[in-house]
Amino acid sequence: MPGFLIDLDGTLYRGTEVVEHAAEFIELLHEKELPYYYLTNNSARTPDTVAEHLRSLGIRAETGDVITSAQAAAAYIARNQQGNRVFCVGEQGMIVAMQDAGLTVTDERPDYVVQGLDRELTYDKLKQAVRFILSGAQFVLTNPDLLIPTETGLSPAAGSIAAAIEAASGSKPVLIGKPSKIIMDYAIERVGLASSDIWVVGDNLATDIAGGVASGCRTALILTGVTTRGNQEELMRKYGVSPDVTADDLMHFAEKL
Ligand SMILES: [Mg+2]
Repeated sequence: MPGFLIDLDGTLYRGTEVVEHAAEFIELLHEKELPYYYLTNNSARTPDTVAEHLRSLGIRAETGDVITSAQAAAAYIARNQQGNRVFCVGEQGMIVAMQDAGLTVTDERPDYVVQGLDRELTYDKLKQAVRFILSGAQFVLTNPDLLIPTETGLSPAAGSIAAAIEAASGSKPVLIGKPSKIIMDYAIERVGLASSDIWVVGDNLATDIAGGVASGCRTALILTGVTTRGNQEELMRKYGVSPDVTADDLMHFAEKL
């Protein structure tokens, strides 16, 4: 009985628009009682908000079905045991994940600087992050994307903020999000199956498929997002990975199972 780790943007929805056959695919997994989780590199939204967004698009989702890079970052820090004081450069999803894991969110003597997308970033926050890292705090990055598409065009994402902190502090961050083994191991543990029994399903070769391959999962590339029939070969060469299965949409993937 396989389990599934399913990407969100480009796989189940594109912004505020649901991807064709996405709701149908999730219903099918639910009916067959196959374990599945939604796995996102987005650290800005809480699992609650992600589940609500999915439901608003007609996709079955509970808070507990959602795994975010902020949760994986919090689990990594809690397990690392080099202190539990965390300075956050991020949004609500990150702060809640840190608190839920029993960590102390603070702007005094932190052991870690955790950074993701922060749409209320100020120079002051940037300065604090850099100074804490220069004083020995460990730099942790939830997701490396440089740009995100928004309704009004491309906007700088978490990776661009990280580039500024890295340049100023001279420290490279520990990367948590896909394709990092840190989020993949965390997610595989939540599913509770051997990695060889888990399908990683997504639209992005560099994150979903590379992360799945590196952690020994089966991988399904769905051509409803950033990868298309036209650029697939070129991107496979660029990132040096190929999926076990390629499908035009999620129900097309279900037929191949
Ligand atoms: Mg995606």
